[in-house]
Amino acid sequence: MDCIFCRIVEGKIPSDTVYRDEEIIAFRDINPQAPVHIVIIPRKHIAALSHLSESDSALVGRMVAVANKLAEDEGLSEKGYRVVINCGKEGGQLVPHLHLHLVGGRQLSDQVG
Ligand code: 5GP
Ligand code: ZN
Repeated sequence: MDCIFCRIVEGKIPSDTVYRDEEIIAFRDINPQAPVHIVIIPRKHIAALSHLSESDSALVGRMVAVANKLAEDEGLSEKGYRVVINCGKEGGQLVPHLHLHLVGGRQLSDQVG
């Protein structure tokens, strides 16, 4: 399986990593949509949000906690920020490895997507 984000986890593709633990890593998006744009992923390959099993619930909760911590680190807590998970083709998911976008540092539109 040739997955870009698995290759980032393995260190085979360089990334600007801002967080790592046993289960999760986070790195700056290569094509940022805002002054802060960080991608948060599980180390284990999960293809999409729709592929989550019940046993992954704690993992997703930790990914959200990491997003909040990074938002704090980036000075976004007071101003606000957005956390997004795209799922599937019409959801705009391009990389088939579950990831959460942390976006902020500018006024985001009212639109959901
Ligand atoms: P998606 O559209 O799948 O929700 O978002 C995938 C995101 O991953 C995009 O924002 C894209 O810019 C980012 N991305 C894709 N390939 C790489 C890469 O090799 N390195 C980094 N840092 N980001 C990537
Ligand atoms: Zn993967």
